[in-house]
Amino acid sequence: MNLDDGRPALVPPVEHWACCHCTGGLTSDGQTCEHCEGLGFC
Ligand SMILES: [Zn+2]
Ligand SMILES: [Zn+2]
Repeated sequence: MNLDDGRPALVPPVEHWACCHCTGGLTSDGQTCEHCEGLGFC
């Protein structure tokens, strides 16, 4: 067994943080996303 692969398991890909309701903090009709409050990730 080789458990020393040097890869931390707690680092998610950047895409993981993208908001599930919008792209870049704005909804499709140009409103600030209420889900992420305009942050673009949640
Ligand atoms: Zn979201
Ligand atoms: Zn959002």
